[in-house]
Parts: sequence; structure tokens; C-alpha cells
Amino acid sequence: MLLSDPSDHFPEIKEKVEENGPCHAAVTQSRYLWDNNSIITYSYIDGNDIQQSKVDCTMEEWTWYTNIEFRKIECGGTIRISFAGLTGSWTYNGRECMGIPDNEATMNFDCIKSSTMTITPKERGVILHEFGHVLGLLHEHQSPKRPRILTFCEDATKQYYRDLYQWSDERVEEQVLRKYDESEVSSCSNIDFKSVMMSVEQYLIKLCADIVQHRYPIPYTINTQGIDIPRNHDLSDIDKAYIFLNYPRVVAHDKTPDWNIRKVLKVAGVGGRRRKDILNATCPDSIRDLFAQWNVEKRMPCATAQSPPRLVRFLRWVFRRHL
Ligand SMILES: [Zn+2]
Repeated sequence: MLLSDPSDHFPEIKEKVEENGPCHAAVTQSRYLWDNNSIITYSYIDGNDIQQSKVDCTMEEWTWYTNIEFRKIECGGTIRISFAGLTGSWTYNGRECMGIPDNEATMNFDCIKSSTMTITPKERGVILHEFGHVLGLLHEHQSPKRPRILTFCEDATKQYYRDLYQWSDERVEEQVLRKYDESEVSSCSNIDFKSVMMSVEQYLIKLCADIVQHRYPIPYTINTQGIDIPRNHDLSDIDKAYIFLNYPRVVAHDKTPDWNIRKVLKVAGVGGRRRKDILNATCPDSIRDLFAQWNVEKRMPCATAQSPPRLVRFLRWVFRRHL
């Protein structure tokens, strides 16, 4: 995801963004999702051992809730990570990474300190956020479920990011104001303010001689609800459940033994016939498809109701029995 759009700093990335469209990132689009049980290789272009080990041990957390393996290799990984300063933290989304020339980075962190082994909450949140994009997650603040829960004041939002990042109105539209249509996404929860994907990319800006980091990328001044949305540093339960149902694990990971298919269905709120179908499914692809279908059915409850109400079923039974 290119929220802190690196195209301002790297013309070659700008060209790619213009060619492919900017990537976005706890909403998923099926075109970004990897095949189930994929091994995704990654390597580092630069950075020291401290920076690299912070990324290694933090991003691993996503694999506890998925059937994906991130495998580190010496060079030429599908995910190529750099630590270029003052260029933002960003990544390409999901399988988009496979289309990037081998000599280019697909992900950058400009905020991972190289001097101390301690991982700060901010570093942790950024690493989890970017790897959420790698798995195909989109930004929560652009969720189709946003209306009436988070309403941006258009003029104030444009002004805010114009002052902060020197973003054009078009960029604010694309990165913040634009809301995905439900038909564009393969799954999305009700808006989850705790999601690690709920934030505009961290952006460090230079004001005079100082580097300033804004604590609230989505401040109360730019939405009608008056909500300050802080950066989340951890995966929310909805993050875990939705990623699990897109990359279903056969058995729970040793680190999270209670996160199994039954639990994630409960957390995600999947019930009724679709829950049974998913529990009876025999392969991860079927579970992903059934979960996507459930997401469609959620927004068309009448047209796609899977099971008639109990009273209707009873009356049908009586009718068949007595006539
Ligand atoms: Zn992002």
C-alpha cells in the first residue's frame, strides 16, 4: 500500500503507480489474495540485523492465523524489503508484488530504528499493517461499511492532508475519502476501529529541521463523529478472524491454540447454514469461497436467505403433512 505515497520520492514508483493504480490496503479483494498454503519468500535489500530481525519476528504473527508461510531467503524474494529513510512505510498489495521488477523493492519501512533491539509499539503496528496489505487486506477507513459510522468532512479532510503531506485533492480522495463499494470487495466486517488496518499510512514529515510524526492520522477534526482514531499496534480479533477465513488453517497454530475455525466463525459472526457449510468444507479454497458468499449474503439478506424462518418451515411442514 502506498498511502504515504513513495511516488513523491521515487519517480520509478510513481510510474508504476500510474500504470497500475495505487494500491490500497480489513477489507479484502480476491484479486490480491494468494493461493492457499502459499510459501511467500522475502528478502532484504538493505537494513541492518536489528531492523531485519524486528520485521522477521513481528510479521510472523500473521502466520498464526493463516495457512501462509513467509520464508526468508538471501535475495530475490517475492517480497523485497528496504529501509530507505524519509520515504514512508509502504508496500504493494497482495499478489501485485509478483508484477514488480526484480531489482525494485516491494516494501519499505522508514521508521524501524536500527539502534535498539526493543520493538516499539509504533514499529510493531507499522510492520503488522504493511504485512496485512501483503496478505491482501485493504484500509479499514475505506470500508464499504463506513457510512454513518465514520463520515469524513470533505473540505476539512482535504485541507488537513494538504497541510500535512502536501497531498493533492485527488490523492486525498484516493487515499482517504474514497469508499470501496461492496461489489469491489470479497469480504468486509462492520467497521472495526481496532483494526491494525485502520489508519492512513504513517508518514514522517520534515518541518524546518524537525521530523514530526502525527499521532492521530485520522483526527477528530476531519470527521463528523468527532472521533480521534489512534494508530492501532495490534491485530484486532476481527483482523484475526477475517484473515483466518480467507486463509483457513486446518489446525490451530501452536502459538494460538484457541484460534480454530469454530472460534473465528463466532468472532466473525458467521452463523446458520453458512457456518455449517464452512465446518463441513474439506479444503481451504472452499472455506474462502463460502466465506465470500456469506459476505455477499449479508448485504442481500432477503434475496439470498439460506434458510426460511422457523415459523415458515413449521407451516410448510404442517402443509405437507396435512394436505
Ligand atoms: Zn496502509
